[in-house]
Amino acid sequence: MSAPTSTPSTASAVASASVAVSGLLTRTQLTALAVALLAITWGFLPEFTVVVMSYIGLYSIVAVGLVMLTGVGGMTSFGQAAFVGIGAYATAWACTSPAAVQALSGLVGMGGLPWVGLLIGLVLTFGVAWALGSVTLKLSGHYLPLCTIAWSLSLYYLFGNMEFLGGQTGITGVPPLTIVGYSLADPRVLGVLIWAVLLASMWLMNNLLDSREGRAIRALKGGRVMAESMGVDTARYRIKLFVLAALLAAISGWLYAHMQRFVNPTPFNLNIGIEYLFMAVVGGAGHLWGAVLGATVITLLKQKLQDILPSLLGTSGNFEVVVFGLLMVLVLQRFAEGMWPTLQRFTSRLLRPSKVAMPKAVVTLEQRKLPAPGTVILQASEVTKRFGGLVANNKVSMSVKAGEVHALIGPNGAGKSTFFNMISGVDDPTEGDVRLMSQVMGKLPSRAFAALGLGRTFQHVRLLGQRSVVENVALGAHRRAHKGWIASMLRLDRGEEAALLAEARRQIERCGLGEFADVPAASLALGQQRIVEIARALAGQPAVLLLDEPAAGLRHLEKRALAALLNQLRSEGMGILVVEHDMEFVMNLADRITVLEFGTVIAEGTPKEIQNNQRVLDAYLGGADDLAAGITK
Ligand code: ADP
Ligand code: MG
Repeated sequence: MSAPTSTPSTASAVASASVAVSGLLTRTQLTALAVALLAITWGFLPEFTVVVMSYIGLYSIVAVGLVMLTGVGGMTSFGQAAFVGIGAYATAWACTSPAAVQALSGLVGMGGLPWVGLLIGLVLTFGVAWALGSVTLKLSGHYLPLCTIAWSLSLYYLFGNMEFLGGQTGITGVPPLTIVGYSLADPRVLGVLIWAVLLASMWLMNNLLDSREGRAIRALKGGRVMAESMGVDTARYRIKLFVLAALLAAISGWLYAHMQRFVNPTPFNLNIGIEYLFMAVVGGAGHLWGAVLGATVITLLKQKLQDILPSLLGTSGNFEVVVFGLLMVLVLQRFAEGMWPTLQRFTSRLLRPSKVAMPKAVVTLEQRKLPAPGTVILQASEVTKRFGGLVANNKVSMSVKAGEVHALIGPNGAGKSTFFNMISGVDDPTEGDVRLMSQVMGKLPSRAFAALGLGRTFQHVRLLGQRSVVENVALGAHRRAHKGWIASMLRLDRGEEAALLAEARRQIERCGLGEFADVPAASLALGQQRIVEIARALAGQPAVLLLDEPAAGLRHLEKRALAALLNQLRSEGMGILVVEHDMEFVMNLADRITVLEFGTVIAEGTPKEIQNNQRVLDAYLGGADDLAAGITK
């Protein structure tokens, strides 16, 4: 889909050339090979290795959840061990408590008890995580991690203080798992299930990340304002991600209980919660395989230290914890982004890029009917915004019509960005109202503005720098498609995803950045990144487009191209509001201009009228602003 114009022969020539320079296997093939090797050798590994591998698998399942939560979603949790505990205790209780056994075994048989335990654990975790998440995820900065510490301590002491959970001694006599009568008591057999669960959850998470919903999850890290203006309900996504990570932890706990065959509170304490976080971060916080790498390195390291240190130091004691801590500091210093990206950089030279599978059915995205030219689409009436005693906007009224470019100008600090926030739902006016598509917007969030057809860019570019341009732009089309988390995890979204990516490429081409579609957004010049933001806004098919200083950082020819693009959009019937300092750009482009000074509108009119307006000239000449040059020219 990348190059619809290239003929099959050139495409295959490019493909075979890249085979020659890079390796034989694709990433998927290498993964399949590694899994196959593990499967073949599994039966011959020493018992001890199998047990260690099983532990690595269990830890990795938790760490995969943390990679999603912390690495991708940007929410740090020290408390995952508590969710592992809920999963473990739920099944231990369901399988051993006389009351539960009596009530349940008649229904599902003894062999069915662990599965009921799994269900109870998942439901309980879901409830607890949702409740904790809805309270704590609103917090930002350091407060969220602190809160995870607080509730992980509470849950830990709760486990130890509940009589029916065996107090500090815990619960013994947890039965092994059985699947349709086949026992998984042998660690070698249970290990297969553990690794199957791990690989399955990695597959699901990988699919989720590689989808519309995954882009929205990644956007959480780009800040609430950006994600919301793309139509993403960030509060909901944060909670869902938190619950997802907690559920993975609970599944690990369930497996753990049936491997250990007893549970007590110790493995679910804060220390272990910190270790899980280390695994995710050391491995590479944004990478699923980093979770497995981190879990492996830390498990093996701890074990080796326990073996080596006593003989090295001649005394026993908890020295391994000290050395472990120091080593972690060193590793984090050396690999700030975790070890996986370094490994990946090395292996990517040996690997062949995977072919993107073409979906069978490409769906059409939701289309918006643009209002007729001349219709007022955005109307601000006497909008006032006060910050304490400062009046940043004072009864500002203005409108944007379909098929026109309206420019908002004014010296620095005049209140332009504040006004932008009022009319895009980022902030609410103190007085006055904003109507979009003749709907009074009140205190609606910016995703409601996006839904009604408002697209915008930011004065300070807000892109996901490490992601490709096409992915950044596809995020703009988020709300034109509908497949959810489960559909994405199960790859039932391919048609829709292809349509989103095709739309993104179309907008990138249209904005003249076609050759950069597949490079990371951060590698572009700042001016080009502004254009990427415009393409992202266009992917949402807006009726009205708000641009905050789009020409800043552009070279002369790029400005001309931008003006041509905006002219084109205007002729298609889009309404455009632009804040811009470059007067030549504004005067040549705008149909109408509104001038702000100290939060108040001092003039409105055509470029000609504004250029001859004495008050405007005074405002610009009064302040030693470089705009004066543009105005008087
Ligand atoms: P412009 O974009 O025209 O340069 P702004 O809208 O950014 O101007 O700022 C207008 C005035 O409001 C400035 O005096 C600024 O200091 C003030 N201001 C903007 N945002 C805030 C805020 N969140 N809290 C307090 N004052 C603010
Ligand atoms: Mg500003």
